[in-house]
Amino acid sequence: MGIDPSYRTSRPVAGDHEGHKVYGPVENPKILGIHGSIVGVDFDLCIADGSCINACPVNVFQWLDTPGHPASEKKADPVNEQACIFCMACVNVCPVAAIDVKPP
Ligand code: SF4
Repeated sequence: MGIDPSYRTSRPVAGDHEGHKVYGPVENPKILGIHGSIVGVDFDLCIADGSCINACPVNVFQWLDTPGHPASEKKADPVNEQACIFCMACVNVCPVAAIDVKPP
């Protein structure tokens, strides 16, 4: 089961990080929620595979260290989501379907 595509409306906004929203619940360090609105990454699914970082033609993602998280201790953070050109490469390569992309 991958990221819930309805998270933008079904989950509460828990805060901001690097210019994007974080959708909760968040209970550091074990539950981290979903980062981003245009490019959403479910941090609780992300296993730090890195395919999205390699696939993205406009460098939307940057590694974020997340020590203590049960799925992986770093995450692909969509710090540059405003640059997204909606090619869907990241969505297609993610092995755990942790990414949902939606134009604003
Ligand atoms: S849809 Fe394409 S441009 Fe947008 S974040 Fe994913 S790989 Fe990058």
